[in-house]
Amino acid sequence: MYLGVHVSISGKISESVERAQALGCTAMQIFSRNPRQWRQLPLSETAAQEFRHKREASSVKIVAVHIPYLINLATGYDVLYKKSIEAYIEDIRETSLLGADYLVTHMGSYKNITLKEGMSQFIKALDIVFKETKDNKNVRLLLENTAGSGHWLGYTFDHHKKIFDSVKDNSRLGICLDTAHAFAAGYDIRREETFNALIEDIDRKVGRAALRVVHLNDSQSDLGSHIDHHDHIGKGFIGLKGFKHIVNHPSLKEAAFILETPKDKPTADKLNLNRVKKLINKT
Ligand SMILES: [Zn+2]
Ligand SMILES: [Zn+2]
Repeated sequence: MYLGVHVSISGKISESVERAQALGCTAMQIFSRNPRQWRQLPLSETAAQEFRHKREASSVKIVAVHIPYLINLATGYDVLYKKSIEAYIEDIRETSLLGADYLVTHMGSYKNITLKEGMSQFIKALDIVFKETKDNKNVRLLLENTAGSGHWLGYTFDHHKKIFDSVKDNSRLGICLDTAHAFAAGYDIRREETFNALIEDIDRKVGRAALRVVHLNDSQSDLGSHIDHHDHIGKGFIGLKGFKHIVNHPSLKEAAFILETPKDKPTADKLNLNRVKKLINKT
């Protein structure tokens, strides 16, 4: 397994690698842009090169980039939809330039239209985005599951299956499984049988090889609450014991486990990483 945390890109983007390296990470995740704004300066070749060199010299083997939530390909609002398609194209190109492995995204929110229409908006958009980024096939777009709040798509893997079955080139797609979201959506993954059944379900729908990243988060909200509220590993409703079979699942040996747990004190990442490390079976 690869293990790491979501790290900040403040300062120079290559500093994110230093932050991950300082924590001994073998995987890391960054935001593609400031999560609260649309515009950013385009990534320069110099900055990207510096990032690639730092990463090669570091312990980090897997890099995931996360698209901020306000970018929405399932929306029925025309202006937002067009802007979102452009942002996805930019983000795939920049993720490729960074030499990162994955671009992680939520599947969007269909607020002013029906779920079915939202799905079809998302699928149409992906076909455009993939066509415009034909030269960036080194980046796999991972669809994350959601907690099922509001009008967000992706709380059931039926949605993922529909997208895998409908886009023109699904070899560019994969899955990111967020444990806190799955739990809040109603999957009782604290139990080994339920977690195994979820992996089997993903396997039947999209093939288990698609599952590349696990967002390893405990949940401050209870089973089936549909509230997306991450907690420290072992401190939430999933609990330490609930993670044991997850981190040791045989189908996830090549997956990257990335923590998106609260950073409420400077030592928080280290503490959470250590809790996970203690759960891993030494073989
Ligand atoms: Zn997540
Ligand atoms: Zn979340």
